[in-house]
Parts: sequence; C-alpha cells; structure tokens
Amino acid sequence: MSALKLVSLEDWGFFGERPRVIAGPCSAESREQLLETAAGLSGIGIKVFRAGLWKPRSRPGSFEGVGAEGLAWLQEVKERFAMKVCTEVASAKHVEGCLKSGIDMLWLGARTTANPFLVQEIAEALSGSDIPILVKNPVNPELPLWIGAIERLNREGITKLAAVHRGVSSSEKIPYRNAPQWNMAVELRTRCPNLPVFADPSHIAGDKAYLRELSQRAMDLGFDGLMIESHYKPSCALSDASQQLSPQELKALLESISIRETFSPDERFRQELEQLRAQMDVIDEDLVADLASRMEVSAKIGAMKKAHNVAIIQAGRWEKVLAKISDLAVKYNLDPGFVKEIFCAIHEASVEEQQKS
Ligand code: PEP
Ligand code: MN
Repeated sequence: MSALKLVSLEDWGFFGERPRVIAGPCSAESREQLLETAAGLSGIGIKVFRAGLWKPRSRPGSFEGVGAEGLAWLQEVKERFAMKVCTEVASAKHVEGCLKSGIDMLWLGARTTANPFLVQEIAEALSGSDIPILVKNPVNPELPLWIGAIERLNREGITKLAAVHRGVSSSEKIPYRNAPQWNMAVELRTRCPNLPVFADPSHIAGDKAYLRELSQRAMDLGFDGLMIESHYKPSCALSDASQQLSPQELKALLESISIRETFSPDERFRQELEQLRAQMDVIDEDLVADLASRMEVSAKIGAMKKAHNVAIIQAGRWEKVLAKISDLAVKYNLDPGFVKEIFCAIHEASVEEQQKS
C-alpha cells in the first residue's frame, strides 16, 4: 500500500486533547431540534457537531432526513455556537451542497464505504477542497474496502482524513446492533500509522446502555476520539432513538470514562514493561517453533496417509482434537472460543500441508 499523505489531527484546528468528541443527533429533524441540541452540547464543551441530513435507511417510508434544507440550520449552529459542523455525504450532489454551505467536515457512511463506485464519485467531487473527511468502516468486515476508500480520497488530494469504527453487521446473536471489530481497527492503525481513528460507540451499541463500556474500550485501545449521537429529547428522535443520549447524559458519560496516557514518564514502569515484553517475545518464539514442529508431524502423517492410500480427513478425529482442546482451555482458564478459533486455523493449515504430499 502506498503511504497516505496526511495532515495530522492537531493541525485540523478542530480538536483538543483526547477524548476528541464529535456529538450531535443522528438526524437533523427541524431547526428547533438542531439548535436546542447544539445549545445543550455547546454548554457541556462539545466543539464539533454532527447531524445527518441525508439518512440511509434500510426500509423506504421511514424518516429519510430533511436533505439540503438542513444545510442552513447547520450553518446557524456553526455561527451561533462557534462549533465545527459535519454531516454525511453519499453522492457528489451532497458534496456540492455541503461545500457551498461551508460545512466544516464530512463523513462517508458505512454503506457508502462499501461501494467503491460511490466513493470514487465522491472523491472526485471533493477534489481541490481541503475539507476533512471521516470514513466509516464498511458494513461488512473487509479491511481492504475501508483502506481502499481512504486511498481513493487521498489520491484526489484529500489530506485531512480519519477513520471511524462503527462495527459491522452480524448474523450472530450479539447484545449490540453492530459487532465491534476492534482487531480490524487496530490492524488499520498498524497499516496506516498516521491515520487518526475514531470510534462510533452509538452505532456499535444500538442502545445507550452499552455506550459507556464501548467508549471506555475505545479509549483503552488508544482511539483518537469518539463520535456519539446526542439529541435534546432522545425519546422523540425520528431515527436511532434508543442509542441517543441527552447532552447531560453525554456529559456524565464523558466524565465517567478514564483516559489512559499513550506514554508514562515513570522509569520503573518502563523497565518493568520492557521486561514483560521481553518475556512475551520469548513465548512468541516458542509458539512459532512449536507450530513448526506440529507442521512437521503433520507432513509425516500426510506422507503416511498417501502411502497407504488413506483419505486426509478421518471422520471423528478433528472432533476429538477439538473436544480435548476445549477441555484444556477450561483447565488453563482460557476462553474456549478463542482457543477453538486458533485451532481451526491450525487445522486448516495442517490439512493443506497434508495435501502437499
Ligand atoms: C450515522 O452516523 O448516522 C450513520 C448512518 O452511521 P453508519 O453509516 O455508521 O450506519
Ligand atoms: Mn444514527
């Protein structure tokens, strides 16, 4: 991947220290709702205001946003409360309207990021402007699509870019609306080290009961900031009512989360951390060496099966291994699901190895 050319978050002139918060209603519903919400949020120190004007809704007939009419209301929020204002764009036409109206920042929603044609169209419409763009992860857990959208924007000269993790659709039974993919977001940080990453706990949670734990998790993982939905009367919201907080509830949430530093000047802490990391490196080496030994045994088994004209997959064997591994996981106080996931990957590689014989 070619390195992204980015302006650092500090130089956007939008945010102060962590947690950098973008807050506002899911949707702009009326001028009154927007101004009341902005007044409440400004009162608790929020400096960056969000509101969706064009809402991507699953079913037709539900509230699909006020559209371009809301641009003037956002301008009013910007002027009255000296806030930066942002909204979602999903087409070149949306971009045009926002740029004309002096909207400060835009975001690409999860459904848009998943569509390279749309992203390209939006990137071209943005070309020549230096407006910051937030890119939500696609609805499906595909890191290349997420990175691809960021690259498309960067290629058109957009250098104020950040990613937003909002979870992914899941068919599993989970407590949240969208399954968090913390690993995918952490992998994004590893691949694009200078790209700021925000979390959107509201769209992960789907219910305000989970916002605190998700916000704390994001901060513990070192995310740069949070995008949180807030409405002056959450229960009356026309979209995403169950996940929105009132400005006062948002204040309480922000006061309750603890922010870890990215670095500690304490010399003893640093020495101990170094020692533990050295221990971990040794264990990692052993793990890889053990994997290699296991693979050697696997290759021998493969050769034997071939010599005796025996099929690679033997009924019942893998189930027995899994049952044993699961018991061991419990014995060693490990999450059996986690251990199973690792062993499924090992098994897959092992079957592949045996096919080489
Ligand atoms: C939103 O932020 O209002 C929104 C629709 O988010 P997402 O694209 O993450 O679903
Ligand atoms: Mn929403």
